[in-house]
Amino acid sequence: MKLKHLLIATFILVTAFPLFIGLYSLNSYTGVQYREQVKSHLSAISQIAKLRILAGVERANDNVAQIASRTQLRRSLAQWSDTRSDLAFVQITRIINDAALDRSYLKSIGVFDQRGQFVTATNGFERLDNLVSAQFEDRPVRLEQHQGVVQLSRVAPLLLDGRLTGYVKVDFSTQFLNQLVRDRTGLGQTGEWLIAMQNSNGDALFATPLKYDPKAAFTRTVSFTQGTVPIIQALSGNELVLEEAPDYRDVPVLASTRYIEQLDWGLVAKIDESEVNAMVHANRSVIYAAQLGIVFLAVIVGVGLSTYISQPIENLKSHIEKVTHDGELSDPPRVTHGWQEVRELTAHFSYMMHSLKSLNENLQDRIDERTAELTKANALLEKTANQDPLTGLFNRRFFTLRFEQELDRSSRYGCLFALVLLDIDHFKQINDQWGHDIGDEVLKEVARFLLVSSRSSDMVARIGGEEFCILIPECEQDQVAIYLERLRCDLTELNFTAKDTRFTISASFGVAFYQPGVRSGKVMLKQADDALYDAKRTGRNRVCVYQEQHHT
Ligand code: GH3
Ligand code: MG
Ligand code: MG
Repeated sequence: MKLKHLLIATFILVTAFPLFIGLYSLNSYTGVQYREQVKSHLSAISQIAKLRILAGVERANDNVAQIASRTQLRRSLAQWSDTRSDLAFVQITRIINDAALDRSYLKSIGVFDQRGQFVTATNGFERLDNLVSAQFEDRPVRLEQHQGVVQLSRVAPLLLDGRLTGYVKVDFSTQFLNQLVRDRTGLGQTGEWLIAMQNSNGDALFATPLKYDPKAAFTRTVSFTQGTVPIIQALSGNELVLEEAPDYRDVPVLASTRYIEQLDWGLVAKIDESEVNAMVHANRSVIYAAQLGIVFLAVIVGVGLSTYISQPIENLKSHIEKVTHDGELSDPPRVTHGWQEVRELTAHFSYMMHSLKSLNENLQDRIDERTAELTKANALLEKTANQDPLTGLFNRRFFTLRFEQELDRSSRYGCLFALVLLDIDHFKQINDQWGHDIGDEVLKEVARFLLVSSRSSDMVARIGGEEFCILIPECEQDQVAIYLERLRCDLTELNFTAKDTRFTISASFGVAFYQPGVRSGKVMLKQADDALYDAKRTGRNRVCVYQEQHHT
């Protein structure tokens, strides 16, 4: 897995994912929360409405009690009952008109005798229906429908000294109820108030016009068998908040139910579920969009940050790969952004590359230098290993090697070669007479002479103090004898000077020719040495060739 992908995955795991989960929960919570708010709001306003209705009813009851408690009214009615005097009648009419005067919500006041027969009423009501026996008992205000008009009314008995003198009936307009249901503030676009009472079947009978049915008052009912309908629940005395409950139109609603016990009324505040859900969804889509934006932003930031951190590292990595592959120590690309650590890492790597590069170059230089020195030393070593330091001729070691090779070659191809040993005569005397340095000079001069006088294919070597050797390959005996004789003569003609005195030298030569069948170099050397010994013995300054029969 690449560092960048790891970083992105980590970032999403620790940031965007929990963020998403958190926002998602918050979102669900917000939806639930919103519903809860609507529910408690409905519950609160329905409670307020219930209190308002109770207050209105209480006021009506108070009004009736006030009117019924008027002594003058009760006296005049008693008087009228007994005497039917016009005075008493006028008195009664005046009293009730006075009572109705400053009560605009009060519709009419009617006065009835002990048997419930109509006596008089407030202005504008010439005749009211006689009371029926059911109305004789003292009950609190109740809703009723009179000639198609809905009103609140109460009948109260008028008593004088414990004696029933008649009844007073007060009708109130239901305006305050209509006003209450008309004000749909807080119930959204679809919500409404419902007020209902039980009819004789026990069904709910709406007491006010409905939003979706303006003629519903005292005409529209909901069967008591429909227990899930909020108004039925309200009339059953249950004060609840119902969700997804079907209302009178069979539309699912969110409803708060209230029961007004004193009047046996049901009250409902409701909103269509579709509206609540639409609001929740509207909120939700805004929140969703915001959340998606936040998560998207988090991912973008994550990817950006990860790239910001990982890119320079990846660049460095691919550069190291390139260096490893090509073997070229080049600088990594400059890093101008990214974390400080990465920048420093790249700088250090660059520095390391520089160091490696110069180290490499130095190393190469030094290797070249050492190789040259070594080659020189080797050449020198080879030279000194094979060379005699005083004369520059080949030394004994190299002579032995070449001698063995020549022996091999001759034994294989059968070609002739000569081995010549040369020893300077009485050299000790030269040293003794002129000194060691002059002796050295003589040795050097003899060496130079031998080199100049020999063929390039011949090999001249110094094999002892004043002993030299000449290897003459592919030769004939006669030719060698002639050559050596001339060499011996020429050597005696070399002139040396020491302490203003001139002197000459001579040398003795011992020669051995390769004989087929000779296997060992030692044998041939011995032969040459024997011949040299012969030359010394027989007077020096001469060339002696080894003769087989001579020695046997
Ligand atoms: P002969 O060979 O004629 O019998 O007499 P010789 O005097 O040459 O005999 P010998 O071989 O005994 O003496 C060789 C001398 O050469 C002995 C030594 O001091 C001298 N010698 C050997 N090597 C060197 C050298 O490198 N430089 C000098 N100056 N003298 C050397
Ligand atoms: Mg000697
Ligand atoms: Mg000698």
